[in-house]
Amino acid sequence: REMPADPETENFRRQVSQACYSRVTPTRVSQPQLVSYSKEVADLLDLSTAAVESDEFAEVFAGNQVLEGMDPFAMCYGGHQFGNWAGQLGDGRAINLGEVRNQKGEHWTLQLKGAGPTPYSRTADGLAVLRSSVREFLCSEAMYHLGVPTTRALSLVLTGEQVLRDMFYDGNPEHEPGAVVCRVAPSFLRFGNYQIFASRGEIEPLQKLVDYTIRTDFPELGEPSREVYLRWFEEVCRRTADMIIHWMRVGFVHGVMNTDNMSILGLTIDYGPYGWLEDYDPNWTPNTTDAAGRRYRFGNQPQIALWNLVQLANAIFPLIEDAEPLQQSLDEYVDGFEQGFQQMMAEKLGFSSLQRDTDLPLIEELQQVLQLVETDMTIFFRRLALLKAESQPSSDAAELLAPLMDAYYEPDKVTGDVRAKIVEWLERYLKRLREEQSSDTVRRERMNRVNPKYVLRNYLAQLAIDKAAEGDFSLVNELLELLRRPYDEQPEQEEYAGRRPEWARNRPGCSMLSCSS
Ligand code: AMP
Ligand code: MG
Ligand code: MG
Repeated sequence: REMPADPETENFRRQVSQACYSRVTPTRVSQPQLVSYSKEVADLLDLSTAAVESDEFAEVFAGNQVLEGMDPFAMCYGGHQFGNWAGQLGDGRAINLGEVRNQKGEHWTLQLKGAGPTPYSRTADGLAVLRSSVREFLCSEAMYHLGVPTTRALSLVLTGEQVLRDMFYDGNPEHEPGAVVCRVAPSFLRFGNYQIFASRGEIEPLQKLVDYTIRTDFPELGEPSREVYLRWFEEVCRRTADMIIHWMRVGFVHGVMNTDNMSILGLTIDYGPYGWLEDYDPNWTPNTTDAAGRRYRFGNQPQIALWNLVQLANAIFPLIEDAEPLQQSLDEYVDGFEQGFQQMMAEKLGFSSLQRDTDLPLIEELQQVLQLVETDMTIFFRRLALLKAESQPSSDAAELLAPLMDAYYEPDKVTGDVRAKIVEWLERYLKRLREEQSSDTVRRERMNRVNPKYVLRNYLAQLAIDKAAEGDFSLVNELLELLRRPYDEQPEQEEYAGRRPEWARNRPGCSMLSCSS
């Protein structure tokens, strides 16, 4: 152009067209310090303990050193944010270092989050603070051990830099310690990576990216063709349903299910203002930015995933040019989700198989029972396994309720009508359990494999963060260790299985979270 742009009227972000990514170098930081790492992920990458504990490791995973063979890049993607098309977003603070092929022949992409600006950073700094990095690091690994499809986290490194954040959006930004998490997944492609091309009518790169995705991460579907595109979309729908069913099983609320936060592999990705249901409230969302609309509330996650899949269908439509088969896969998502959800609930309740006539009403009514008073979801299901079905029917309601009382935040409200309704449901549940062939012990073991004892309760993450901010990383490491065995009884760690303490009820970070990270 002849004239420089007017910064007032012509200030728009640089668009990167016809490209999947841009090369970018991580920003150097002053003092890399390894806070914690995941042993299991190091194993996946064939990294020895010595390698992980070397000084070089912290240098590399803070972004100070680019090793031979690494060719760092940031990806271009778009997305629908809170229901609206937001245009180009991209990896604003994620930098892919490259891919590792391990001894087993698997490929794993290494991605630094918070290692400095990229061409997609827009007005933001490309950095991440310790607070949000602890949350991402711990939750990725906790989810993995719970059996939920997720991206992984190799390492959590302090950078030695201070990062300015306005955590409460009140105009009083404060300095917080900077940190970098190294995330690991076969691929970090999101629905938004395909959407951005479709939105610009760039069909050729769209097709290239779809072909690449299929060849790289869905080779079992065969060589790309129109037929294979359809099978691929069907598979993405299936994986997405599976992921959401797991979220509903463990009480996870993602909080920001924008299409740029939806992995094409059906992995939980981008741990921001997520939260764990404590009180079983389907309307709950941890994300303060979503408090008004509650678009991403717990109970809405299945519908939102479908909405997001519709956007992906729209994006790949130019490669198919027929809405019908895409619609068919979306319908299969709805049916598949419904059936998978019912099956999952049957397992949570300890039924060896789902008897639709009796069990569906029981499952339905449980939703109501859990909302009569403030009920801790995790404790409730775990304790349900303690009911004794083998002995004769007890007429004593107190005895029936006893194992569950720890799940109630306000036990003195479990009286009168409320109490009667809970007991009534429990009696019907017990009757159903008596039709099971298995013993109480066998049923309990089965239930304990799907109903975790330990989850990353919001306040626990916050306690770990508070300590870490003072340079004490012991709780980060203790929780990492605890959450490696979420289904096991760990008698020494009983305190971490209890209800959220009252002080944490309305404390920032413990129940509600802002997007500031
Ligand atoms: P999120 O809400 O975390 O999914 O982020 C939405 C978009 O904002 C993505 O393109 C992110 O890469 C970008 N973003 C978020 N935080 C930052 C940051 N501190 N610096 C640069 N980009 C960011
Ligand atoms: Mg994101
Ligand atoms: Mg309630």
